[in-house]
Amino acid sequence: LTTADLIEEHRICVCVRKRPLNKKELTMKDLDVITIPSKDVVMVHEPKQKVDLTRFLENQTSVQLDGCHVSNVFTARPLVETIFERGMATCFAYGQTGSGKTHTMGGDFSGKNQDCAKGVYALAARDVFVMLKKPNHKKLDLQVYATFFEIYSGKVFDLLNHKTKLRVLEDGKQQVQVVGLQEKDVKCTEDVLKLIEIGNSCRTSGQTSANAHSSRSHAVFQIILRRKGKMHGKFSLIDLAGNERGADTSSADRQTRLEGAEINKSLLALKECIRALGLNKPHTPFRASKLTQVLRDSFIGENSRTCMIATISPGMTSCENTLNTLRYANRVKEL
Ligand code: ADP
Ligand code: MG
Repeated sequence: LTTADLIEEHRICVCVRKRPLNKKELTMKDLDVITIPSKDVVMVHEPKQKVDLTRFLENQTSVQLDGCHVSNVFTARPLVETIFERGMATCFAYGQTGSGKTHTMGGDFSGKNQDCAKGVYALAARDVFVMLKKPNHKKLDLQVYATFFEIYSGKVFDLLNHKTKLRVLEDGKQQVQVVGLQEKDVKCTEDVLKLIEIGNSCRTSGQTSANAHSSRSHAVFQIILRRKGKMHGKFSLIDLAGNERGADTSSADRQTRLEGAEINKSLLALKECIRALGLNKPHTPFRASKLTQVLRDSFIGENSRTCMIATISPGMTSCENTLNTLRYANRVKEL
């Protein structure tokens, strides 16, 4: 079963990706306590909990990306098709800090050989340019644009324009606009890769500790198709803030507490908006957070599709967070 089948058949698709134990975990002699015995069950062996995903997998909506390179098993193709059909597509990575969200979405930025070509952003871009060449798409004369921004503590910053702070406005017709957000003209996959690199370095620059800031912000990368200037379709790819917030709520630092509360709020709002989409509810509670507000378009309309990638760490020390991630995944899909 491939993600292509899943996404094609369902408006909401959930995947689980488990990364291998890393050096630090191996040094600490942490154990891999996660097994994925079949495509619809993830076992957390310590403290012996089985998260039964059959409910959302009943209608075959998940696929495990365990162990392999994302580009070998994951395809964003059906989501890309959606935007050619005038729809809205969303793909987001959800999980605790260090579980592999950025690695999955953006590519590998850990070593000297930064490689964004294998992340989901790049896979999506490649598919867009392949599909653009199809005769029936060619005659539409579509232009491709990309945006890359960050939402931190409820504020929006343009990652393609030196982190300029942007305002979000909603007009009388509930249309949401990020004022001044730069839409870069892109002609090929290479153009997109360059933007990912620029945005990513902008995202992480000026940080003291490795994931201090990026784990507390959501990064949104969008590919927009326009026809004669008018929006034709939009694909939003999101590297969410880490979902571990336990320590924050009791932190002595006010700023840390506020950030934690804001992240909680936006992740809850995201879940509710996707559920509303899955249930075909007329009302989407998109105003509950800045994240869902800027993604409003994605949660409405007949032709909207969403894919969630739940990233999990294998270690015993990550159990609580892993269980929380799997519960969230289950809830997103449960109708
Ligand atoms: P997050 O964005 O969720 O905080 P990262 O994507 O930064 O986590 O991943 C943390 C570390 O684990 C990075 O060094 C990354 O290269 C590595 N990593 C993540 N996922 C994988 C994977 N599937 N295979 C190998 N290494 C991975
Ligand atoms: Mg990250």
